[in-house]
Amino acid sequence: MKMSKLFVQTLREFPSDAEVVSHKMLVRAGYIRKLTSGVYEYLPLMWRVLKKVEDIIREEMDRAGAQELLLPFVQPKELWEESGRWEVYGKELMRLRDRHDREMCLGPTAEEVITAVARDGLKSYKQLPCNLYQIQSKFRDEVRPRYGLLRGREFIMKDAYSFDMDEEGLDKEYKNMADAYTRIFKRCGLETKMVQSDSGAIGGSVSHEFMVITTTDAGENDVFYCDSCDYSANSNHAVSKLPQADTDGNKFGFNEVKIVDTPNTKSIDELCEFLNIPSTIILKSLVYVVDKKYVLALIRADKQVEETKLMNAVGGIDIRIASEAEILELMQQHGFNGKAGFVGPKGMTDITIIADETVKDLKNFVVGINETDKHMVGANLDKDIPTITHFADIRLVEKDEFCPQCGQPLKVTRGIEVGNIFKLGTKYSKPMNAVYLDKNGKAQPYVMGCYGIGVSRTAAAAVERYHDDNGMFLPVQIAPYHCVIVPVSTKDELQMTTAQKIYDDLIKAGVEAVLDDRDERPGVKFKDADLIGFPYRITVGKTITEGNVEFKTRATGEIETIKPEQSVEKVINLIKEVGIL
Ligand code: ATP
Ligand code: MG
Repeated sequence: MKMSKLFVQTLREFPSDAEVVSHKMLVRAGYIRKLTSGVYEYLPLMWRVLKKVEDIIREEMDRAGAQELLLPFVQPKELWEESGRWEVYGKELMRLRDRHDREMCLGPTAEEVITAVARDGLKSYKQLPCNLYQIQSKFRDEVRPRYGLLRGREFIMKDAYSFDMDEEGLDKEYKNMADAYTRIFKRCGLETKMVQSDSGAIGGSVSHEFMVITTTDAGENDVFYCDSCDYSANSNHAVSKLPQADTDGNKFGFNEVKIVDTPNTKSIDELCEFLNIPSTIILKSLVYVVDKKYVLALIRADKQVEETKLMNAVGGIDIRIASEAEILELMQQHGFNGKAGFVGPKGMTDITIIADETVKDLKNFVVGINETDKHMVGANLDKDIPTITHFADIRLVEKDEFCPQCGQPLKVTRGIEVGNIFKLGTKYSKPMNAVYLDKNGKAQPYVMGCYGIGVSRTAAAAVERYHDDNGMFLPVQIAPYHCVIVPVSTKDELQMTTAQKIYDDLIKAGVEAVLDDRDERPGVKFKDADLIGFPYRITVGKTITEGNVEFKTRATGEIETIKPEQSVEKVINLIKEVGIL
């Protein structure tokens, strides 16, 4: 490919609407262009990257025994009604109507469609196990599609679905997919951590995410992990052991229950200061709205509630913290006139009250009683708090806590979720009556798993991981081209013929090379080469009169002076080393 013909427009500045590095770099280096919010065009450079990621995925999925197919992007409402998700899937599901007023949606995922495919095609136990996958655009009407390809509304996903006879088969396939995923990301040049996670809207019981660990702002997930054992989990799922703490108010003089005046103590800090106590003997009450209903969450006051855990504890699918007005409304409904900061479980007998496990340890504690500037002190669960619906772990793990498996200190880092594997069980096969006939001729629902990889997100995550001030340097395995050859002066005949020869030799060997034949200043060519991130650059300049060219490795910035034929050999060897060619 000649640079003069390459379809690429590099920009001098980063786009003003881009917040994360990968978005900024991909737009500036001419890989993508925004069509509308959360929807991007994959220009030729990007498309080459995506195809490479896809090819790696295909090879490894096929190697793992899965079969590729392609499902429609538009899906009918009826299937979603069969699974029960039409009602419960939130606003991310883009719904539309056709000219006959039939309701449809743009596929955000394909459990329903694939279950219908299996129902018709996998009738006997002899056909199981079976794993089917596709690489297809998905659409999710994300609330804040602000991270470029990392969180698009339209994006490319590889989604696979497995069908087994029983849990044992599923366990085996789950492990098989986890291994395939590890190979896929490694072949993309990415190190990933496999972490336990919440199963979210897809449902099921067990799930793991593959995270690219990153220090940039783009890591939307906190990952807690332990260096001493293999524990690692997304914060929406992580658990921990807590350090010792004072949880008995007796030590602070609260040996009998009473109501005390606590003026101007609407926050936990103010209350601690006023009563001269640690927050570990206070019961904190927080009002949430889960699926449009009020829920009261109780937790030891030095800890925070993890909303996903709370939502799961209630069995809901949508959660938000209540506004001040809503808290007041809730209190008034129960006959109280206190300010929002004084809310408590008193009298709230008709709503769901979920208490965190930390609450079990509290004795003679301090709690709000829905009255302004008053608190109850010396309170105890069984006597002074109305029926708690149930206890659950709804606590957000924080640093300085300990590994639930081995007790060593937990560490935290940020990560980008590039892949996700789920054990679905019979969550879809049962309601959709997707069954096979077992050995005894009895109909049984498939035991299913599903396995996703964000193809476009993986490429963007690689940019988050591999960039510097001058641009990106995608691993050569997924970079759009392997190498660029830059003659410093296009008017110099020797430079041009040498560059052309290197280029021809590389192309002959199967290397994806670009010849920068533009009549531009060398500075411009070098800048573009760095920005686009050609893994290797061979510069043919004045030193060619001595028989030398310059070889630059983009990732390290290292520059060597070598012979032209050595430069050809070097590129070939380097890319052979990573399994290309
Ligand atoms: P997230 O929690 O980041 O919203 P998710 O858990 O809802 O993602 P899954 O349903 O597990 O996503 O989808 C499988 C994979 O698809 C994810 O691991 C991720 O790599 C990718 N993906 C999901 N949503 C997006 C998006 N909006 N843009 C790009 N890739 C996405
Ligand atoms: Mg996920």
